[in-house]
Amino acid sequence: MVDRIPFNIPTAHGLELDHVSESLRSGRTSADGPYSDRAAAMLREATGAHEVILTTSCTDALELSALLLGLGDGDVVIVPSFTFVTTALAFRRTGATIRFADIDSETLGISAATVEPLMDERVRAIVAVHYAGIAVDLDSLQELADRWSVPLIEDNAHGLFGKYRGQPLGSFGRFATLSFHETKNFSCGEGGALILNDPADVERAAVLSDKGTNRRDFQHGRVDRYSWVDTGSSFRLSDLLAAFLVGQLECQSQILELRRTAWRRYHDHLAPAANRLGFQCPIVPDDRRPSWHLYSVILDSGETRTQVIRDLADQGIEATFHYIPLHSSPAGRAATDAPLPCPVTDDVAGRLLRLPFFTAITPAQVDRVCDALLASIARS
Ligand SMILES: *Cc1c(COP(=O)(O)O)cnc(C)c1O
Repeated sequence: MVDRIPFNIPTAHGLELDHVSESLRSGRTSADGPYSDRAAAMLREATGAHEVILTTSCTDALELSALLLGLGDGDVVIVPSFTFVTTALAFRRTGATIRFADIDSETLGISAATVEPLMDERVRAIVAVHYAGIAVDLDSLQELADRWSVPLIEDNAHGLFGKYRGQPLGSFGRFATLSFHETKNFSCGEGGALILNDPADVERAAVLSDKGTNRRDFQHGRVDRYSWVDTGSSFRLSDLLAAFLVGQLECQSQILELRRTAWRRYHDHLAPAANRLGFQCPIVPDDRRPSWHLYSVILDSGETRTQVIRDLADQGIEATFHYIPLHSSPAGRAATDAPLPCPVTDDVAGRLLRLPFFTAITPAQVDRVCDALLASIARS
């Protein structure tokens, strides 16, 4: 029996469980407790945001952005085709039309060149994903957004603590969203955050995220009772989960360093063989620092990938494809008014292989995955 190497293992690295116990002892386990305040302050410090609202998921944070934009029928939002479903669904739920942008073959994110052909007066927002925590070309994308007076939103589910030209990811868009799902770099099972970079959004975001009430004004003594004042939902994270998250964020440098080391080990092992065996390793432009979220390779064909996934599975190693393109999905086709092709997305999604990657992966595990991968590619 070989040891299994799963795709992901969530782990605690510091005081996560102590904080959870303390939260329970304090009797403040619902949203807006002391741990939520602490996690939000840590995230504000990391990104320079005006406000950070912890949410039950990144999906919720995206839905909150859509509500804050007041989107409706006739509005258009541009999102990548190469992303998780809810990057698009969160905006679609408001009735907005979705246009899917293709990705750049280096960053695997959208670019000014892929978004520009989709722009017109109906576009109300552009959503970028920093795939694998490697930033999209933010300067040219922001320039395009500014030219059309349209807000940029960063779905930064992968990229917390990554940087673009020295500036933190999540600090560029009017809104940025984070995920603390079990598969992400920092996790509390399920969780997320909405980063607000425009002070004008702070007050309404507080209401919309708190069931459409002005409870925050009440807590701050600005009104003598709170009431239903706007739309919204129950978007906020439980303090029990925020307590776990604080433990993770306290280990920020340790977690990032472990992931950087694992990423480097994959890269040093695989990159020298890439040309000879006909596959591609990730490309990190010089002006970006990744968040070390995942390690993937692009194989020479979908057939090779199917064979490699099978070979690795036979050795107890869990590798997987990533993202079925949204532009050709049933709901994606129904959501769009501009069914343009996304050839790079189709090509990359058809050949990309994600390797096991998690904070506690050991050097020996990385080596075993690399050896098995190279042997399988050489055979196919
Ligand atoms: C994981 C992920 C999401 C969804 O995050 P949840 O916290 O599970 O809602 C959204 N977008 C991207 C790019 C993701 O990777």
